[in-house]
Amino acid sequence: MTTQAVRRTTPEEEQYQRRTPQSRRFFSEAREFMPGGDSRSTLFYRPYPAVMERGDGCVLLDIDGNRLLDFTGNHSVLIHGYGHPQVLSAVEQQLRKGTCFPGSSEPQLVYARLLCRRIASVQQIRFTNSGTEAALNAIRAARAFTGRTRIAKVEGGYHGTADDVMVSVQPSEDEAGSRSRPSASPHSQGLPAGVVGNVTVLPFNDVDGARALIESQGDQLAAVLVEPVLGSAGMIPAEQSYLQMLRAVTQQYGIVLIFDEVVSLRVAYGGAQEYFGVVPDMTCFGKLIGGGFPLGAFGGRREIMAMFDPSRGRPAVPHPGSHNANPIGIAAGAATLELLTRPVLDELNSRAEALRRELGSAFHESGIPVQVTGLGSLFGLHLTDRLVRSYRDTLGSDTELRHRIFLGLYSEGILIDPRGVGNLSTAIHDAEIEQFLTALRRVLERSTAD
Ligand code: PMP
Repeated sequence: MTTQAVRRTTPEEEQYQRRTPQSRRFFSEAREFMPGGDSRSTLFYRPYPAVMERGDGCVLLDIDGNRLLDFTGNHSVLIHGYGHPQVLSAVEQQLRKGTCFPGSSEPQLVYARLLCRRIASVQQIRFTNSGTEAALNAIRAARAFTGRTRIAKVEGGYHGTADDVMVSVQPSEDEAGSRSRPSASPHSQGLPAGVVGNVTVLPFNDVDGARALIESQGDQLAAVLVEPVLGSAGMIPAEQSYLQMLRAVTQQYGIVLIFDEVVSLRVAYGGAQEYFGVVPDMTCFGKLIGGGFPLGAFGGRREIMAMFDPSRGRPAVPHPGSHNANPIGIAAGAATLELLTRPVLDELNSRAEALRRELGSAFHESGIPVQVTGLGSLFGLHLTDRLVRSYRDTLGSDTELRHRIFLGLYSEGILIDPRGVGNLSTAIHDAEIEQFLTALRRVLERSTAD
């Protein structure tokens, strides 16, 4: 409370408040019934988050009638923007047939085949409701397959909210420990005793440090989990040599290598694993694969996936779920991926590459230090002059100024993620990118003027 009271209200915050009185009203009412006024903790920002009314293509309207160009796509879910006609039509057709069934349905097979053909390492797949469940099941399968308990994950890596992975997601400098042997620190209270101690935290993009840690525990580790592009930590791509090292060392010790491609699938036609040319044992999916509906998936080597097979008695790893493979999400997801052809992805990615370059120039002109990270259609802005190759490198970047820029952009009609990241959808074209850059230059000019 005290820190809130002494914090100076910035001109960007005043302007945001003037433009969003209905959102402010919403939150003061919603707080009565929901802690923080919402059901998704990452959406909160000061002074209160904006409330959305509707979306069309790349345009969002908030409940105050502000028109925003959306450079988040619901945090990388909506790769074709809001209401793409082909996605809508697939959903409408499925809605008329039924929203859920006490049995499988044809679209599930169609989508499973599509994903297995598209992602080389995925021989078999199963569908969940979220990325969280995808990671949870992949980890459980790795433990069952190897007979080991310990897992290793990357510092700053986010894999949803299962207990095992709520470790060292966003550690402070004090919690983080040594750079090459990071401490395992709980990301939440309420984790069962023993969970944190069962996790080895790997330094990202540190080939020697991570290899030494894995080698020292080689025969205890069930799985190594890694995002080929660290998403929540700010769209920081892995280096190819790092992923190659993880592949080699996990193979050597019989550890299951799990790629979390919930965010990075969009990087290439066959996911970031195709881009990097590294083949994991298991992969988790989420976000865009549900085409805007809650859907996740995990898949990989046939002999690991066989553990979920109930056709020969109780499966080694049961995977029930009332809404698993919900046909609405399946229909929307399959339509979304069918639209995402190689040429479409090439165009999307080269537009984003140009954007990343221009973002760098805009900051450079303003004299504000920045590192622009990202890959494919993903971008991240880190206000620091230190090269950003890992979560650790982002500690110490100017998050206050980043927040002012985020609010300033909002008032200019541009939405990025308050954590300074964003992405392009296929609904965004050169004109919208120009608007983003013009708005950013205005915001940066103002923020350096006072
Ligand atoms: N893995 C990664 C890399 C993610 O970014 C997320 C979601 N932000 C998840 C897993 C969890 O997915 P969900 O929110 O669908 O549970």
